[in-house]
Formats: sequence, C-alpha cells, structure tokens
Amino acid sequence: MHNKAWKEQVAQRLTSASAFARFLGIDDINDTGIGKAEKQFPMAVTPYYASLIQKPFEKDPIFLQCMPSAYELIEAPWLTNDPLGELSCSPTQKLVHRYPDRALLLVCSECATYCRHCTRKRISGETLPPISEAELAKAIDYLNAHPEIDDLLISGGDPLLLTDEALSSILDAVSKVPSIKVIRIATRVLATLPMRITDELVSLLSKYKPIFVNTQFNHPRELTQEALSAAAMLIDAGIPVANQFVLLKGVNDTAECVEELCRTLYHNRIRPYYMFQCDLVRGVEHFRTPLSTGISIMDHLRGRLSGMAIPNFCIDIPGLSGKIELLPNYIIEEKPTETILRDNRGRVTSYPAPTPISKS
Ligand SMILES: *Cc1c(COP(=O)(O)O)cnc(C)c1O
Ligand code: SF4
Repeated sequence: MHNKAWKEQVAQRLTSASAFARFLGIDDINDTGIGKAEKQFPMAVTPYYASLIQKPFEKDPIFLQCMPSAYELIEAPWLTNDPLGELSCSPTQKLVHRYPDRALLLVCSECATYCRHCTRKRISGETLPPISEAELAKAIDYLNAHPEIDDLLISGGDPLLLTDEALSSILDAVSKVPSIKVIRIATRVLATLPMRITDELVSLLSKYKPIFVNTQFNHPRELTQEALSAAAMLIDAGIPVANQFVLLKGVNDTAECVEELCRTLYHNRIRPYYMFQCDLVRGVEHFRTPLSTGISIMDHLRGRLSGMAIPNFCIDIPGLSGKIELLPNYIIEEKPTETILRDNRGRVTSYPAPTPISKS
C-alpha cells in the first residue's frame, strides 16, 4: 500500500447523510432530526468503513457508529461539550495536562470517519488547521519545563490523518524532549482507514522513542483482514497496539459481543486496554448504558478470558483526579480471621487471614 490509497479514501468520503443513504441504497431519508444532527456534529464516512455495513441497517453496529441520528439532539442537564473538563487543564492551547506524569497533545481536528459517539466533538470535525509551529513550540517549552511528564499522548482528531511529513515534524520535536520516554499515538484509522498504515508510515514511526499505538475497535465486525494486517504491520515493526473501546448501547453492550471482540484482538496480538463508559458529552445520550451493564460484562469476562485479554473498565468524570476503574465486587465479607469471596459463577469460599507471627 502507498499513500495514494488512503488519500483517495479520504477524498471519496461520504460527507452527508443523504450521500451515505444513497451509497447504501436506502430510499430518501426524510428525517429533519437527521438533518439537524448532521449540521450540529461533523459527518464523514470512508467508503471502506461504509462497505462493512450489513442489512438491516438500523441494527448494524457500523451504521449506528457513523450515521447521524435524531437522538443526537436529546438534551439533558449533565451533557456538555467538554465532558472531561479538558479546557480547564490546558496549560498551552494544544496540551492537556491532567495526570502528573502524562500529557495529551491535540495535533489536528480531522478524522477519517466521524464517530457519532465521539467525546471530543468540540474539536473533531471542526476544520481547524493542524497544530501550528508556534503552538507546537509552546507545548514543547511546557514539556521541557515539566520533566515529571514522561509519557506523551498524541491525539486530536486523528493524528494519522496528518501527512507523513507533518507527523514527522511533530515527532521530531517531541522526541527531542529528554524527559519524554514514551510516545502514544491515539488513532482510529485501524478501524476506519486501515490503508493509512503504509510501509512508509511504519518505518517513520519506528525511528522514534518507544511508540505505542492505541486504537479503537468497538465491534468484532471492525476486525477485518485489512484492519488486522495493518495492526500486524505495526506490531511486527515493534510498535505495540492496544485497544480502547467505548461501551455503546445497541452497538456492543452485550457480554458475548465484548468477549468476541477482546478474544479476537488478543489472538491478533492487540492488547485490550480500556473499556470506557460513555462520557457525558452532548449528542451521545442515546449510546449511554447503565454502569451495571459494564460491571456485569466484566464479571462475564473474568474466568472466560485470559487476564491478557481483559480490558480495564473505566469511567472518566471531570472533578475527579482522572479515570476510575469499576469492578464487580468479589468480596462478600471481611472478618479479622478470614475473607469471604465469590467467583463469577457465584461459588463462595473463604481465604484465611495470615497467621500472626510474633517477633521476639
Ligand atoms: C486518559 C488520559 C491520559 C492517559 O491515561 P492512561 O491511563 O495512562 O492511558 C492522559 N491524559 C489525559 C488527559 C487523559 O484523558
Ligand atoms: S476518531 Fe476519535 S476523535 Fe475522531 S470522531 Fe472518532 S472518537 Fe472522535
């Protein structure tokens, strides 16, 4: 694959609900809600991602992730455009610093396909220019002044929508910061534009400090031959790939679906890293699941899947110091002499407290 293939995919994206419907052979969509939703939130789908859709469309997990819907107009008092409070912890225009040792650099606003459930709708799709030299220089100054940051996440938008040249000047700059030991690239192109992973890109990325690629496969149907080969190119070159997915009602909110997703990822050397609870972002209310759904999915996975294949179930709420992990409760009772435990099938057992050893 070379650069032409992915650039053509981007150029040929379906950028309106009506063009998308025509592509799928759906007769006129006469829904004013859809019209409003696509005006309010960005819309684009690569022909590749659209080609994965199957009938019946209304239930298709790929279709639901990229077709605008009237449900996006649902309003509730807890919904905002910046659900993680990122604007309030941005020391420079493009940098978010919420954890002591990690920072997030937002380098562009474009994505291959706009996810209807996106958390960063305040950024993605706005046709903002990529990070400027001056903005990058300010971020680099901040990183140099804060050597406690050793892990830099590069996100957007989707950083892999940048050209190889633009990407390499950003990577050149950040990898010169001595305290940065690890770079992580957050991208969804493995799912929506796998032809972006070219030999040139892989050799470019391999030149830098340890790089991890974190991607987002939300459903096993996204794990096509193309997607898995693209991931394998990165992994073979020494770039580990991990998956962070979002629990989405009607898309992947069953234990069987998550199990198949994580199992297939694991078989293909992609580490399931996070399963995120949907953020409180405007436009995604219809995708939110109750917390109990995620917790019972975690209960299902434990015991059926290797720990290597089990993601961390996390929720991110502004005001807290960051992501918190939600787990099923396996401790029934704690006594001074023993702890009563259960397993995921409800069997109960006791673990004795260590024998007190008196030191004389
Ligand atoms: C999630 C996140 C990170 C990275 O967190 P990890 O748990 O290390 O993956 C860093 N910065 C921000 C602002 C984040 O939201
Ligand atoms: S690829 Fe990421 S940033 Fe872009 S629309 Fe999807 S979730 Fe949002």
